[in-house]
Amino acid sequence: MRLFACDNCQQTLYFENSRCVHCGVAVAYSVEAARLVQVFEPALLCRNGRDHDACNWLVTVSSDPDFCVSCGLSEVIPDLSEPANDQAWRRIEAAKRRLLYTLFALQLPVVSRKVDEATGLAFRFLKGTAEEPVMTGHEQGVITLNVDEADFAFRENMREKMGEGYRTVLGHLRHEIGHYYWDRIIRDGQRVDGFRALFGDESQSYEEAIARHYESGPPANWNESFISAYASMHPWEDWAETWAHYLHMVDTLETARSHGLTLRAPAADQPGEKISTERLATSDFDALTASWNAVTLAMNSLNRSMGMKDAYPFVLSPTVLGKLRFVHEVVRSAARRAAPRTIAA
Ligand SMILES: [Zn+2]
Ligand SMILES: [Zn+2]
Ligand SMILES: [Zn+2]
Repeated sequence: MRLFACDNCQQTLYFENSRCVHCGVAVAYSVEAARLVQVFEPALLCRNGRDHDACNWLVTVSSDPDFCVSCGLSEVIPDLSEPANDQAWRRIEAAKRRLLYTLFALQLPVVSRKVDEATGLAFRFLKGTAEEPVMTGHEQGVITLNVDEADFAFRENMREKMGEGYRTVLGHLRHEIGHYYWDRIIRDGQRVDGFRALFGDESQSYEEAIARHYESGPPANWNESFISAYASMHPWEDWAETWAHYLHMVDTLETARSHGLTLRAPAADQPGEKISTERLATSDFDALTASWNAVTLAMNSLNRSMGMKDAYPFVLSPTVLGKLRFVHEVVRSAARRAAPRTIAA
């Protein structure tokens, strides 16, 4: 995620700002311009911004006159009269806008189910009950998220229970959209053979894989071949975990670049090699991973200095890097096919 600037006074602004923190003008994110712009016509602000102060995106010319492309994808939201739901919904929508920012940046097709029922995308944010718990997941273009995942205590508890190093709302959304793009890019794009060579045969029973995973846990040496223990469950989950990780990398490196971060990475073969994220070309996978190693090392060290746990609790084995390279290549070829950019409606 890059930094933005106020049109009126050039103050540095963040993606989430709806007002300039220096001169006070109203600002909003324009998907077409891919930046924050000064708002001259409040009527063009997304209705969730106007009515709830819960969105800072503008509506797009070609689509829904009420909601922005992000809010327009939310098919079901929880009962907002409940304060806890309202807070959870705001956090989830904010994470979804970050997700979409990267999808647009990578020129991946984003089409609403309202436009294309067969291959479009929709989100359902549901609050479960003890009798009817909500399962986070993806099915035929519909991404369901349990809104409890936006509650810090709930999520930390789940993370501990599942033995995970990392669990966030944005991570959930990046994972689930990975399942969606598997259908679009791998299955519909005739790339299943290339996929199987790296991730394995996805036609094996998913139900048996879940049962096996929760009964006997991941294989002891899972980190040699998988980005997370969960990824070892089934080739589909391996794909979704790897895909999510690729989005983490691209977005975090863009943030580093936008801040002009320059690092001297302690590499064994090239001691003290200087990596300037400013010159980083995300089109080159090797440059991307070299920068990523430097950035994540620094990130973890900074966190430890603050007495906090590692921000990046992952190890990229050669096998995992091969899978990430595959994701990188299919994203780039999907982008070439999708250009000019498809705007959701
Ligand atoms: Zn300003
Ligand atoms: Zn909106
Ligand atoms: Zn999954």
